[in-house]
Amino acid sequence: MNTVPVPRDLQEFSHIFTQNGFSVYLVGGAIRDIFLKKKPTDWDVATNASPQQVSKIFKRVIPTGIEHGTVTIPFRSHMIECTTFRTEQGYSDGRHPDKIHYAATIEEDLSRRDFTMNAIAVSLPDGKVIDPFNGRADIKKRIIKTVGSPTERFSEDGLRPLRAVRFSTLTGFTIEPETFAAIQPALTVTGRVAVERVRDELVKLIMSEQPLTGLDYLEKSGLMDLFLPELAQCRGIEQKGRHQFDVLDHLYRACAAAPQNEPEVRIAALFHDIGKPIVRSLDESGNFTFYHHETVSAKMTKKIMERLRFPNRSIEMVTHLIRMHMFHYEPVWTDAAVRRFIVSTGVEYIEPLFLLRRADSAAITGTSTLLPDLVEFRERINHILAQKHVFSLKDLAVTGNDLKKAGITHGPSIGIVLRELHNTVLDDPSLNTKERLIKIALAFCNERKIPLIIF
Ligand code: ATP
Ligand code: MG
Repeated sequence: MNTVPVPRDLQEFSHIFTQNGFSVYLVGGAIRDIFLKKKPTDWDVATNASPQQVSKIFKRVIPTGIEHGTVTIPFRSHMIECTTFRTEQGYSDGRHPDKIHYAATIEEDLSRRDFTMNAIAVSLPDGKVIDPFNGRADIKKRIIKTVGSPTERFSEDGLRPLRAVRFSTLTGFTIEPETFAAIQPALTVTGRVAVERVRDELVKLIMSEQPLTGLDYLEKSGLMDLFLPELAQCRGIEQKGRHQFDVLDHLYRACAAAPQNEPEVRIAALFHDIGKPIVRSLDESGNFTFYHHETVSAKMTKKIMERLRFPNRSIEMVTHLIRMHMFHYEPVWTDAAVRRFIVSTGVEYIEPLFLLRRADSAAITGTSTLLPDLVEFRERINHILAQKHVFSLKDLAVTGNDLKKAGITHGPSIGIVLRELHNTVLDDPSLNTKERLIKIALAFCNERKIPLIIF
């Protein structure tokens, strides 16, 4: 197959280049997808036109990476990433090429790309395949192999070993042995890569359909020791009891069992027991105990995520889920107890917390069904949420101002009284009317000797 069919939109897009005397090629992930018989998700193209020339021939271009010769062209419903042919010379810091040179030919451009499967081009609009490094054969063999010497290619850009691992998990391909063996010696270079680029690769790996392949490669290559040593230390930590896996395999399985469209739940699943090696001890009957592992795991996860510069909102969410993951329920709980659980967990965390519990169970028992008690608990929570009770102070029928008008003085006492009223309506939601709450507030102040201003 020396030509491939080219979608109509892409043909028409390429005419704009050819009519202006330029050449343009489809490159990158889309070609991999074509040969894997998957539908490409986005289009990357390479051209001999400079970014300035591209800006002239299209009405609108977005300078998304102009310093690397990349612009994004909105075309019909597509956002097409367009990079001028280039070569790179000298990578003295293992992170960025010292100089970017524009190249004359597509073959030169393909030779600077990372893996053979990523170094194929399709000329547009005719669909002719250009494959100087036999990428198609490697796709058939399902292997990931660098273009040229892996040692050289990894020492130029330390991110490439992480990309190899990420692509392996995305495609299910094996990393070719010589390429894999070159990862370990390049770890010092990889350690100098900007932390945000590392984080983005790790997130893509964790969020892939089958993260187990990538996690396994991450561990065996030494990349996990480099970026997530706390996780690597969970290897060999046996748990006995209900658990048939050591802590690390349990975490891998929980991560894979968490939903693919919930990043915080997936990340929480991967780290939820990371404190177990630290807190593990043996009781008199020879069983392991892991007291307070959820608190220790949450603290360790916070440090890891801060180190990898995750956004604060994600850190907060993941660590809260981990801290709460051992939550416990008994059918004898009153509705007030269920309401208190909702308040202390936070309404927005309820669903992710149950998703985490499912993933955790799946990684122990192999099935993600919840125990009958927890199914009942979830139903009770749903029922209570549907009644739109008071779950936060702002749902109370009185405000701080109402209390002031009733004579309760400013400052800390208002906060104390509001919290007391909140507890009262959690116990009995029917008390949530302005009139009743003001009476209760005044009685409470009287009992606690909180001074009132009598108007
Ligand atoms: P994805 O589906 O994740 O977008 P992709 O292969 O398109 O996969 P990109 O990160 O978008 O990956 O990169 C586009 C192309 O640019 C790659 O296919 C590869 O040829 C090249 N490339 C990207 N990053 C590097 C790198 N660090 N070193 C060498 N070539 C790279
Ligand atoms: Mg891409």
